Amino acid sequence: MGRIKRLQRAAAPVPPMPAPAICPLCEREIPDGQCDAHHFVPRSHGGRDTWVLHRVCHRQIHALFTEQELASHYHTVERLRAHPAMARFLAWVRRRPPGFIERVRRSERTRTRRTDHD
Ligand SMILES: [Zn+2]
Ligand SMILES: [Zn+2]
Repeated sequence: MGRIKRLQRAAAPVPPMPAPAICPLCEREIPDGQCDAHHFVPRSHGGRDTWVLHRVCHRQIHALFTEQELASHYHTVERLRAHPAMARFLAWVRRRPPGFIERVRRSERTRTRRTDHD
């Protein structure tokens, strides 16, 4: 049970509900049913630590980066955000309602087109 000290808010009456998880990528609350767990380093590369984020944000990560790229470089929030395409996605998704879900089309790039002849 790690104590999370980062989310310090102004002292206000605490409602009798668990605080909603905050997506570290877009920094919005994550509604029920939209939580995904992402491995900082893909499991296939020995990663164990995960973070919780929006399904749509999670899909975007895997749409933009291969597991190799995630393992070798994009295993921190800072680095993911620094990528121009991710920055654009985040700027866009922040204007969507928190429960927004959409298919991320670019997933094709990393999922299927891998059978090119070298
Ligand atoms: Zn998010
Ligand atoms: Zn993931």
